[in-house]
Amino acid sequence: MKIIRAEHLGMCFGVRDAIALALDAVQHEPLTVLGDLVHNETVLADLRARGIRLAQQPAGVGTRTVMVTAHGASERAMSETRGRGLNVLEATCPLVHAAHRAVARLVREGFHPVIIGKRDHVEVRGLTGDFDEFDVVLDEEDVAKLCERPRFGVVSQTTQPIDRVRQLVRLIRERFPRSEVCFIDTVCQPTKQRQNAAVELAQKCDVVIVIGGAHSNNTHELVKTCSRFCARVHYVQTADDLQADWFASEQTVGITAGTSTPDALIGEVESWLRARKATVSSTAMEKANPILTPGAASIPC
Ligand code: SF4
Repeated sequence: MKIIRAEHLGMCFGVRDAIALALDAVQHEPLTVLGDLVHNETVLADLRARGIRLAQQPAGVGTRTVMVTAHGASERAMSETRGRGLNVLEATCPLVHAAHRAVARLVREGFHPVIIGKRDHVEVRGLTGDFDEFDVVLDEEDVAKLCERPRFGVVSQTTQPIDRVRQLVRLIRERFPRSEVCFIDTVCQPTKQRQNAAVELAQKCDVVIVIGGAHSNNTHELVKTCSRFCARVHYVQTADDLQADWFASEQTVGITAGTSTPDALIGEVESWLRARKATVSSTAMEKANPILTPGAASIPC
């Protein structure tokens, strides 16, 4: 069994910085994070253990300071939170900020905003929350439901696969040939790197393991991408989810992970696989050379 990691995998700088900011802030005063700081249960449990409180709504915040996650929030939502007398600490990733600036510029210039992404995702809620009129599209059916507008301004949730984004922009242009369609590419570089590395990995592996949180959009996108190039793709949240019968000897096993997956979880999966590799290698050796198996030497020839 050969084990290889994708060239780019795991936690991105935006999530690392947000976690570092939260851990620093809680040293000075009680802190509540609004929403999931990362879409990874293991990391969230660790943050709770370090005294950081988590709330899904401003009404549930029991501290004076509240943190907006790397996914960002609309200006409207942040003003409402400040209006409750709370201090807002922003951990919004600079690349999410760039997406906010892009859509605001398009709206200022008279384009109807269209966000390519998941309607209920926290980042998309933040990108659309300051506008009364907007559309969110994720597939061909959503594009078919769009009403004609003279000018469409299209940006994307930062963690969407760029291939899908470009395809949907093409579809919008085909459907509305008389409209002006302005697209600003806001897919972040870490997502592009992990997607490209996942394609390369899946092409040379017999089995691919994708590690990430159950609510991590980019992890599920990695699963879909790998599945296009490899028939045996398994999604796990931790090493405890791995199953021995997924693996055999003489296989190449690839590992990739979403942008909220900590290094420790990737390390645990790799260690599990290396232990498994040792087991399957010795089993294979025993089958090939029964005389070498422990105890076999005592069997009379
Ligand atoms: S996935 Fe991209 S946009 Fe989101 S936090 Fe990471 S680097 Fe920033």
